[in-house]
Amino acid sequence: KRRLFIAGNWKLNKTAAETTETVADLKAKLADFNGSLDVALFPPFLSIAAGQAAAAGSPIGIGAQNVHFAESGAYTGELSAAMLKEAGIELVIIGHSERRQYFGETNETVNLRTKAALAAGIKPFVCIGETLEEREGGNMESVLKAQIVEGFADITAEQMTNLVVAYEPVWAIGTGVTASPEQAQDTHAYIRSEFAALYGQEVADKVIIQYGGSVKPANVAELMSCEDIDGALVGGASLKADDFSALILNA
Ligand code: 13P
Repeated sequence: KRRLFIAGNWKLNKTAAETTETVADLKAKLADFNGSLDVALFPPFLSIAAGQAAAAGSPIGIGAQNVHFAESGAYTGELSAAMLKEAGIELVIIGHSERRQYFGETNETVNLRTKAALAAGIKPFVCIGETLEEREGGNMESVLKAQIVEGFADITAEQMTNLVVAYEPVWAIGTGVTASPEQAQDTHAYIRSEFAALYGQEVADKVIIQYGGSVKPANVAELMSCEDIDGALVGGASLKADDFSALILNA
């Protein structure tokens, strides 16, 4: 199976001082970690430098939660991929459902941001996922397919093996409702089949597909045992070093 990647999306949580404290705590708790999987945290922009300093010498990667697609220009409030790269940031979340829902992110802007990150040598964690309404209306596969076909347009096969796909069913985010391992596995297999249709099976077999949505220390092992689930993008359970270290060690 593919190497697991466990990542924590801190969303709008933790000042720089709080980040220093939590990352130092996590680093200590992972002192005996055998490095059998990849680990990263995504703090808010202004807390990234503190996270990088505290994570130095540990297996914890520190990334950003967004990046703009333009190199420069009249885009108030945005940051470019070159700015991230210069700040030592090599991982970035793109198109999280909260950005799609609250900030007008579309498959097209996700695609532009993904291409900008890749061009700068930053690994994108591209988020896809259906809402409850879409799933219950029988539109899950068509929604995911559009997110894949449009969101990954022009991405090369080589680039596909250098990014991470995060499948987060919107109805499972922050709700305490996790997709059952069977539901998650079925959907991951469907997602991989869509990548196989676009890039061939050999490439699709290399794509890392994380699951996200109420992943906890208690349910991570069962999810990670599924054939097509290659890691987790964790919200709430990544905020405390106790929880996140337990989750990593249980994965
Ligand atoms: P929760 O783990 O809090 O459900 O959040 C998932 C998520 O949105 C990670 O990006």
